[in-house]
Amino acid sequence: NPAARTPDVIAAIATAPGRGGIGVVRVSGASLSEFAAALCGRVPQPRRAMFSAFVDAAGEAIDEGILLHFPAPASFTGEDVLELQGHGGPVVMQMLLARCLELGARLAEPGEFTRRAFLNGKLDLAQAESVADLIEASTAAAARSAVRSLSGRFSEEIHRIVDALIDLRMLVEATLDFPEEEIEFLERARAMPRLEEIRDKLESVLDRARQGALLRSGLNVVLVGEPNVGKSSLLNQLAGEDRAIVTDIAGTTRDALRETIQIEGIPLHIIDTAGLRETADTVERIGIERTWREIERADVILRLVDASAAATDTTPEASESIDARLPRGVERITVVNKIDLAGLAAGRIEEPGEPGGRIRLQVSAKRGTGIDLVRAELLRIAGWHAHGEDVILARERHLHALRAALAHIESAAAQSAALELFAEELRLAQESLGEITGEFTADDLLGVIFSRFCIGK
Ligand code: GDP
Ligand code: ZN
Repeated sequence: NPAARTPDVIAAIATAPGRGGIGVVRVSGASLSEFAAALCGRVPQPRRAMFSAFVDAAGEAIDEGILLHFPAPASFTGEDVLELQGHGGPVVMQMLLARCLELGARLAEPGEFTRRAFLNGKLDLAQAESVADLIEASTAAAARSAVRSLSGRFSEEIHRIVDALIDLRMLVEATLDFPEEEIEFLERARAMPRLEEIRDKLESVLDRARQGALLRSGLNVVLVGEPNVGKSSLLNQLAGEDRAIVTDIAGTTRDALRETIQIEGIPLHIIDTAGLRETADTVERIGIERTWREIERADVILRLVDASAAATDTTPEASESIDARLPRGVERITVVNKIDLAGLAAGRIEEPGEPGGRIRLQVSAKRGTGIDLVRAELLRIAGWHAHGEDVILARERHLHALRAALAHIESAAAQSAALELFAEELRLAQESLGEITGEFTADDLLGVIFSRFCIGK
């Protein structure tokens, strides 16, 4: 069946919905010269901008703009790619897209362009994922890290470890045929020191990947406090100058109860519980229910109290009901604000008696004193120790694969007397790492990964 061998032509609007100076429709397929000719009346030169009208079946212009043709294999997907740059209005973009469908394209699924790039060997899986991560990055640090993965830095490190594993496996498997030499072999080949080197590299990657996971998903902070204790003031101080480039990860709708700021590039999702109240309004109730679900996923609870108020240590009703729904083991920090009014000094006090010791920070949000203490405390809880350029923007699935590989390396180290088991653990470690780059990845997992992309990417 020749039709099954040739992938069909896909098309999608690649620019964000809404109005813009320009809008782009992207088309990918096996061969698009005829397609281009039908759309523009002539075939553009490869990789040269061609100004042209985009015409309908009757030859009437739908729009005019730039057509770019990237012939296979030197394109993003590895197939023929056309990029139609027209005027960025929602209606004209839809009309251009409809024209492409009329010419035989079908609407691309989310992530389908990137999926084709992966299947055609233009990107490995970790790089493909970093495309989505770059688009979704909520801080500049996350974006930088994503672009490093996109350029293949993460994949290269994985490949280097895999290469070292393969070398070791080849040695071991060559020896398996001569069982009487097994023990000497391990000595001669320096198998154990080599295994240790591999483990060290893997541990370093895992550590930097964990830091990256933090950059990706950030920390959920629940802010508790009576009106006027200084919650907004503290948020402003924490956000500092970076505030302007912070966006909400979830994107579109701004949630009044949830705000994202960043500290050293780590997104902090702050849930302001001041908005949690009994209400008859359905929409508001849905928002509040969602907030509760986020509270249940909290990493830290920041309780703000007013140092100048008489009843500093009474627990307000609201925070008691919040306490009741909070998961155990969540770190709790009390921030005593307005120390300027109470004549207190900034500082960090560990309260004895509590399990793990509760921490109390004395600050003035208005004057900015003690804010560094809050910042440092949040970074400590996050487990952040900055690696700067080395951070790997990992996903949960990468962490999982790295941990699995490390476990197999450790099992191998424990099997040094049984060469066959040693070899098998090395093989399994290699397979785990292969999941990251996509060499050993099930089709259904690929489906899940790419379905989370936006359409047109
Ligand atoms: P929220 O209702 O908890 O968000 O509190 P706000 O941040 O809006 O602050 C309430 C009032 O307290 C404002 O007038 C702030 O200027 C003031 N305030 C906040 N922090 C301090 C502080 O550290 N010292 C003093 N003196 N006033 C503060
Ligand atoms: Zn406020």
